[in-house]
Amino acid sequence: MKKWVYKFSAEQTDGNKDMKSLLGGKGANLAEMCAMKLSVPPGFTVTTEACLDFYKTNKEISKEIRDQMIEALGWVEKLTNKKFGDLENPLLFSVRSGARASMPGMMDTVLNLGLNDNTVLALAKKTNNPRFAWDSYRRFIQMFSNVVLGVNTSHLESNLEDLKEARGVHEDTALTAADLEELVKVYKQVLLEDHGVVFPQEPMEQLWRAVGAVFGSWNNNRAMKYREMNNIPHDWGTAVNIQSMVFGNMGDTCATGVCFTRDPSTGEKKFFGEFLVNAQGEDVVAGIRTPQPINNDSKMESNKHQKTLEEVMPKAYGDLVEDYKMLERHYKDMQDIEFTIENGKLWILQTRNAKRTVNAALKVAVDLVAEGLITEKEAILRIQPEDLNQLLHPRLDPKAKKILIATGLPASPGAASGQMVFTSAHAEEWHKNGKKVVLVRSETSPEDIGGMVASTGILTARGGMTSHAAVVARGMGKPCIAGCTALLINEKEKTLSVKGKVYKEGDFITFDGANGEVYEGVVPTIEAKITADFATFMKWADGVRRLRVRTNADTPEDTKVAVEFGAEGIGLCRTEHMFFAPERILAVREMIFAETEKDRKKALDKLLPFQRSDFKGIFKEMNGMPVNIRLLDPPLHEFLPHAEKDQQELATSLGISMKQVKERNDALHEFNPMLGHRGCRLAITYPEIYLMQVRAIIEAAIESDKEGVKVLPEIMIPLTSELREYTLIRNECKTEIEKVFKEKNHTVKYKMGTMLELPRACIMAGDIAKEAEFFSFGTNDLTQTTFGLSRDDAGKFLPSYTQKGIYPRDPFVSIDQEGVGFLMKYAIAEGKKTSTSIYAGICGEHGGEPQSVEFCHKIGLEYVSCSPFRVPIARLAAAQAALR
Ligand code: PEP
Ligand code: MG
Repeated sequence: MKKWVYKFSAEQTDGNKDMKSLLGGKGANLAEMCAMKLSVPPGFTVTTEACLDFYKTNKEISKEIRDQMIEALGWVEKLTNKKFGDLENPLLFSVRSGARASMPGMMDTVLNLGLNDNTVLALAKKTNNPRFAWDSYRRFIQMFSNVVLGVNTSHLESNLEDLKEARGVHEDTALTAADLEELVKVYKQVLLEDHGVVFPQEPMEQLWRAVGAVFGSWNNNRAMKYREMNNIPHDWGTAVNIQSMVFGNMGDTCATGVCFTRDPSTGEKKFFGEFLVNAQGEDVVAGIRTPQPINNDSKMESNKHQKTLEEVMPKAYGDLVEDYKMLERHYKDMQDIEFTIENGKLWILQTRNAKRTVNAALKVAVDLVAEGLITEKEAILRIQPEDLNQLLHPRLDPKAKKILIATGLPASPGAASGQMVFTSAHAEEWHKNGKKVVLVRSETSPEDIGGMVASTGILTARGGMTSHAAVVARGMGKPCIAGCTALLINEKEKTLSVKGKVYKEGDFITFDGANGEVYEGVVPTIEAKITADFATFMKWADGVRRLRVRTNADTPEDTKVAVEFGAEGIGLCRTEHMFFAPERILAVREMIFAETEKDRKKALDKLLPFQRSDFKGIFKEMNGMPVNIRLLDPPLHEFLPHAEKDQQELATSLGISMKQVKERNDALHEFNPMLGHRGCRLAITYPEIYLMQVRAIIEAAIESDKEGVKVLPEIMIPLTSELREYTLIRNECKTEIEKVFKEKNHTVKYKMGTMLELPRACIMAGDIAKEAEFFSFGTNDLTQTTFGLSRDDAGKFLPSYTQKGIYPRDPFVSIDQEGVGFLMKYAIAEGKKTSTSIYAGICGEHGGEPQSVEFCHKIGLEYVSCSPFRVPIARLAAAQAALR
């Protein structure tokens, strides 16, 4: 018989921390902590395989699984000396999801399961605490209704708010047992009258339904969205953890909280956390009450006057300190721990590797190496390359004038500036229309995930550092301020009032997630500064990687940024990007409109000095590193004048009529320009274009060489499909280059090669390698042409392909290793057969995407090339590929 259920308790534990794919992260860590003999309430985990089975069997929990659960339930009853549904000493459970990868807040949880109209009385009597019993029951009804019955919680919670208002109290904790008993009645009535359901009283029925709902929540919209964003496969499934309850809401000797073994914002080695007295876990996360600091190190502006856990429950705090140290040493990483204190006794409910900002992650990794807990190699593998993106977040210009309107908790660093929106729906809609928005909410819930993705930053009025908004934003690398209590948000009216001033939706706002300050209007930002830990870490990474990392840059300015980020050359300089500057575009248009070679040359002569000076600037920045310059590639129509004003200007400059301009525009129109007159095909019809470009490159190289700059130009011909095509163009270019050498009486070394961005080019690579000195895979076009998918239009329908699992990922984002990758491998192998000296790189967008970088490492490319801001990501991905 298959094992579907794994037990965990200090006495017996079936699993361990390495069983995440079967038990989920939470289940595996609960098992591990039990093995470590920490105080963990006993329970059992129903495996992810059971979840997959659930979906296979039409959303039924099979009898075999149920039987194993019943057996495990009896085992927990024995251990706890309580009985599920008992009328004297009832056992209650929490039912929580737990997938292989952490998906905070994405799936569902039910606490206090097992309560009903009778067991609530038993619990009241047994604990001699009716208030606690009724509080637990009303929480259970709320959660169960939401998670299992699909009732919007606000339908019930408004009754709680009404009751508090009627009693004239602010905090839930001020309600009496009688109040809560009354509330339970109201809840059940609302469920019956508004939703037609009788709240289920039978504990076993509650359990089956809750487990089914947690399995079901694997495929709720927000979980699916989260997985898509984080590249988590949809077929992993979630485990369910059924754990005996311990109570943080039994009174003032009880509490619940969340802590981090180091500061999750900075990575500093200080124990950091928040807690609430007389509360249950969801209160901390939901941000309904502002939590208290666990110690002095955790104090912030908003809670610095509150008592710490260390002060109010010194014994439990001391135990927590002992446990956190043990957990961090054991896991060799910063932990995020959930705990509950029941009548002074500490229970650990969960531990996991803490989500952190990338700066914190770098600091923790570097510190852990210094502390001897992990090796440099382990440290390199600890950071997700994509996370380095966060480092690139701009900061507010300290010199800029700012109007401070409020201060909240610095939940996730980075500066955000944009138009305020008050709903996630608007955030998504405005974002689609090209607007930069800041999502402003009282608090966020997992429903807001789409809106958070669409926003440049998230600002909430409630919640602490561990609230949903804070945790999720930090994970996304988005700036966030939480708990900005001075803000009065009216989500209905779509207004924000603060200090007597009212702001409307669409008004601009800026905030700094690093210090929690909110400003009126737009405040200028400056680029990110790189820390010493980053430099140390990247040095380790550079020490192990084989793959070189170059950059795609077209201007000296971009080149400079890329060098600062560690670029080791230019892998692609798209010369046409230089053509759009206002003083150049007219000459480009004159060239396109020229009807004779003579006129075309005249226009090209105007462009030459611009190109030469750009190349000189780039050579200077790249001093000693290879610079790959691609000759003109895009279809000429991209440069045509479409606006009336531009057409007029061109007509005047050329001394022709507007009618002639329009006619020529029409004549240049192509039905399929991406497969049309572009790339080296331009040079077949108009050789003088490339001749001007190679002249500019070589003249720039000679001038630079004379000035003592070390130049290594690589001249690249795009969109080649055939050796004869390549050779013809290459020979023409070489003749021109020899001419320049003679004129200047000075030579420089250079290389000539080609892009491989058509399937035919890859197939013929063995042939092309007879003459080409290097290859560069243009995987944007290679993907487009291999799939026959338009790179400009596929965005409209590709998402359906990934959602339906036809393509695992968007092939324009991550290389299609089987198809496009096959062509690449074939081309390299054939090329090497012909030429032992040939080398290959990649310059499509994939060159900065970690999985593609790993693939490029595996197939033996010399380098990857990516945009300047992705250079550190590629460096790290290349190092990880080498280590793996
Ligand atoms: C490519 O096709 O991958 C490439 C780098 O060229 P471009 O994106 O300019 O077409
Ligand atoms: Mg291309």
